[in-house]
Amino acid sequence: MDEDELSKWKRAGGIAGKARDLGARMVEEGVTYLEVANTVEDLIRDHGARVAFPTNIAINDIAAHYTPKPNDKGKFQYGDLVKIDVGAHIDGRIGDTAKTVEVGSNTYHGLILAAKLSLESAIEVIRGGISLSTIGSIVERTINSSGFKPIVNLTGHSIERYNLHAGLSVPNYDDRSRDYLPVGTIVAIEPFATTGVGEVTSGKRSNIYRFVRPRGKLKEDQIAAMEILRSEMNRLPFSERWLSRKIERSERPLKGLVRAGSVYSYPILKETSGGMVAQWEHTLYVTENGCKVLTY
Ligand code: MN
Ligand code: MN
Repeated sequence: MDEDELSKWKRAGGIAGKARDLGARMVEEGVTYLEVANTVEDLIRDHGARVAFPTNIAINDIAAHYTPKPNDKGKFQYGDLVKIDVGAHIDGRIGDTAKTVEVGSNTYHGLILAAKLSLESAIEVIRGGISLSTIGSIVERTINSSGFKPIVNLTGHSIERYNLHAGLSVPNYDDRSRDYLPVGTIVAIEPFATTGVGEVTSGKRSNIYRFVRPRGKLKEDQIAAMEILRSEMNRLPFSERWLSRKIERSERPLKGLVRAGSVYSYPILKETSGGMVAQWEHTLYVTENGCKVLTY
C-alpha cells in the first residue's frame, strides 16, 4: 500500500477514534442511547467521512449488535457496562474501533482493563507473518490472568475497501489455526472479556441491517428502498434510523425486504450465561516489523 492510500485509511481511522471517544465521554446516567449514537454519527459526517456501520451501543451482557431505533427511549443507568463501537469510512476505507465505560460505578474496572490490556499485548507482538493463533493465545492469556474469560465465538477481522469482514478472522483464544497475517493487511483486533462462560448466543433482531441481494417479487416501496441501499450503502451495514431519514415510513419496506431475504438483519449477541462483557478494539495496518494503529 502506498503512502497516499495508507494516509486515507489513517484519516478514516482517526475520525472513528474521535467519534468513539466522544461517544464514550457522553455516556452518563440519564443520557439516551439515541443522543449518543446521533452525536457520534454527526461527528463522523462533520469530519468528511461516512458512517461505516451504525454505532453499536452494547450494554452489560450484550456483547454487540445493538443500535437505537429511530424513536428509542432507552437511557443509560447507574452501573451499566457500556461498549461503544464505532465505524467511519472514506470511500470505503474503514476505521473500526471500540471501548468500554461504566456508568458512574467502578465495579467492572478489572474486566474493562483486561479487555484493554489484551488488545495492547496483541498490538505489541503483531507484525507481518505472525500466526492468528499466536495473537489469540496472547489475548486469551492476558484475559485469563486477570481472572476472566475471552469470548471465543467473536473475532477480529481483516478489512478491505467496502468490506468490513474481508476473510481473515482473528480469534480471541488459541484456536490452533495456522493462518497468518500478511504484511499490508488492514485488520481490526477486538478482544471481548467476560465474567461469564465466554461465548455469545444470537438473540432477537437488532436494528442493524445489511443489503444482500435482490430476491423475490418486490413491491414498489421495497424497490425504492432497495435502490437507496444499493446506491448509498455499498453493502455496508445500516440502521433503521438512517433509512428513516431517507424515506418516509421506512419500516414497512424494510420489513418486507428482510422477509424476502434481500436484507439481512443482524441478531443481538448476548453472553450465553448472562456474564458481563467488556470490549476494546483498534484497526491496524500490518507492516514487516510491527503494526500501525489507525484508530487512536
Ligand atoms: Mn467494531
Ligand atoms: Mn470489528
